[in-house]
Amino acid sequence: MSLLRFKEVEVAFNRTPVKVEIPKEDPSQYFAKYVFNREKMQEYLPKSTYTALIQAIDNKVPLNRELADEIAVGMKKWALDNGVTHYTHWFHPLTDGTAEKHDSFIEHNGNGGIVEEFSGKLLIQQEPDASSFPNGGIRNTFEARGYSAWDISSPAFIHDNTLCIPTIFIAYSGESLDYKTPLLRAINSIDRAGTAVAQLFDPEVKHVFSYLGWEQEYFLVDEALYAARPDLSLTGRTLLGHESAKNQQLEDHYFGAIPMRVEEFMLDLEIECHMLGIPVKTRHNEVAPNQFELAPIYEETNLANDHNLLLMSVMAQVARRHHFRVLLHEKPFAGINGSGKHNNWSLGTDTGKQLFKPGKTPQDNLQFITFVSCVSAAVHRYNGLLKASIASATNAHRLGANEAPPAIISMFLGKQLNDVVDSLVSDDRDDNIHFNAKEELNLKVSQIPEILLDNTDRNRTSPFAFTGNRFEFRAVGSSANCASAMIALNAAVAEQLIYFKSAVDAHMAAGMEKNDAILKQIKIQLKKTRNIHFDGNGYSDEWKEEAARRGLDCETSVPKIFDAYLAPKVVEMFKKTGVFTEVELNARNEVKWEIYTKKVQIEARVFGDLALNHIIPVASRYMGLLLDNVSKIKALFPSDKANDLAEQDMAIIEKMAEHIKLVRNMVDQMVENRKQANRIESMRERAIAYHDNVAPLLDDIRYHVDKLELMVDDEMWPLPKYRELLFIR
Ligand code: ADP
Ligand code: MG
Repeated sequence: MSLLRFKEVEVAFNRTPVKVEIPKEDPSQYFAKYVFNREKMQEYLPKSTYTALIQAIDNKVPLNRELADEIAVGMKKWALDNGVTHYTHWFHPLTDGTAEKHDSFIEHNGNGGIVEEFSGKLLIQQEPDASSFPNGGIRNTFEARGYSAWDISSPAFIHDNTLCIPTIFIAYSGESLDYKTPLLRAINSIDRAGTAVAQLFDPEVKHVFSYLGWEQEYFLVDEALYAARPDLSLTGRTLLGHESAKNQQLEDHYFGAIPMRVEEFMLDLEIECHMLGIPVKTRHNEVAPNQFELAPIYEETNLANDHNLLLMSVMAQVARRHHFRVLLHEKPFAGINGSGKHNNWSLGTDTGKQLFKPGKTPQDNLQFITFVSCVSAAVHRYNGLLKASIASATNAHRLGANEAPPAIISMFLGKQLNDVVDSLVSDDRDDNIHFNAKEELNLKVSQIPEILLDNTDRNRTSPFAFTGNRFEFRAVGSSANCASAMIALNAAVAEQLIYFKSAVDAHMAAGMEKNDAILKQIKIQLKKTRNIHFDGNGYSDEWKEEAARRGLDCETSVPKIFDAYLAPKVVEMFKKTGVFTEVELNARNEVKWEIYTKKVQIEARVFGDLALNHIIPVASRYMGLLLDNVSKIKALFPSDKANDLAEQDMAIIEKMAEHIKLVRNMVDQMVENRKQANRIESMRERAIAYHDNVAPLLDDIRYHVDKLELMVDDEMWPLPKYRELLFIR
């Protein structure tokens, strides 16, 4: 081990756990301590203000200025009571993560002093000078301003002595520049469309809510080792590193005992999450060494997503207190599992019904199958879009990499639900002939067991699986903003619900009874979309061929996967549901291509530097030692004997020289390919050039660098190796 590496490893291995102080009160006492929730609103706002605000939240109506002023007074008081000095509008730009610009509460008081000031105006709307956020050309120079506006459906919270106000971020011309705006639109759309369908079964339903329960996977690495790996610190993943002799093959990490240091970290994180009102509940080791998972109790999608974004930043902070770095990259280490963020998604009514949960009565089950058939239709029609919604430069390393969902979206139903669907689609009767719906109902629908949840039947290879009372969209990347997937899914399903309702109305207008009409439409939809259902092994080559035959989107190039957003049917769907305009879709794709390009570009630069300035010098030095050795042998021994003794060294020298030459050539080639790609005007074409001509070289160079790692004297190797990075003591 090189001296430097030895020091880092020594530090990492000898760390003692950082003890966490557990609050004296019970979690229920400190839960949401730092959230301006209804309880705090009641305490800090005049009664009439409180009532008006709750009404505005529940009925989704905008606040007026007077009301906002009153709320701002109460919110400021609460914040100051908690030692807060600054406030910020907290929003989700099209980059990773969140954005915030802090202002302090101070204003001149007119007498040379200051007062703490926070008005309704500052609460509800601001104009962050955010001209450098990605916008895909929407905010050109004459329309350069955007503004952020409070999302009253997500409560304000205190983090780092700062009052954070969740906001949307839009251009003055009205286009969204963030993730939250379209997410709220998609949620409204599924609320309207879902309510209209749910009312077929229960006229009392006023709202349909979309729920999200994410499962966040992540890796931890000791900070000393992290700092010694420029690839990890600059790109979030290891660009080189030979597999460790031991990694996950013994399967001894999954659900295994959590190392003490990690346990303290988790505890610290959980306490902090609970104070911020994030209902985290489940923690465990994941499959790969140093990989873990955290999952909350599910919440309404908008809030759940805010909580996930907040979690990701809190995680990074808490990890540093414990001398760790969190890796949210989808594939930080080659050869072992990557990290995803399963999105458990469901719909429910304001009357308390879970719409993906089979019920006790035929009527309940008819409703259940109705909603399942609309999801089926949406996933079928928009499988390409759903894939685009989770695609990114980083998630590309995970998709199709034989442990994560394949790069084809299909839908897993499980045996019981599949049998039901089979029996519904099996008869070829002309749907125009009147049939006895009641009889069919009893025969086919009422037999669905009340609880379909069947843990043994879980197919881990499916990207989109029915799991008893919800669907689990597993292809989402660990670093992603879940909004992207949730926007696409909710909007696509909303459109199919709209379609379902109008088809049923048409059948009824033609004289059918309601249940007949519903059943008829369910059958039509399930029959038409049967192609999306697949319960087999999603990793197999046969499935890739079969999926292509079925007409599913099998594109694997991320820049081309993004094209799905601009397909005419997708543009139409987003327009119909009011989620995106065509201008927004075009602008967002520009941003996606640009971010893709930049990520690959950064990796290529970092790796070029590592290869030329870290690896090759060390490899050459070691080769020089071997050469010295050979020439000394040749000087001291008779030539026959010398050739024999030096044979192995000579072979290694030749191999090393070959690897070094290839690495140099390929780094040159990579620089050249980048130059060529950079000359391309079109963002899409540039991203494609990076995908086709730059990204593959990263893998090729890595192959040779990893070979060199096996040859060079361990004492000289400058970077912490996989076996050191991957096993926390
Ligand atoms: P597993 O790893 O077996 O999938 P977890 O317990 O890790 O299960 O995660 C399950 C996630 O699904 C949790 O976040 C949970 O809150 C969420 N969930 C459970 N029921 C629903 C539902 N009806 N709608 C949305 N999310 C749900
Ligand atoms: Mg899961």
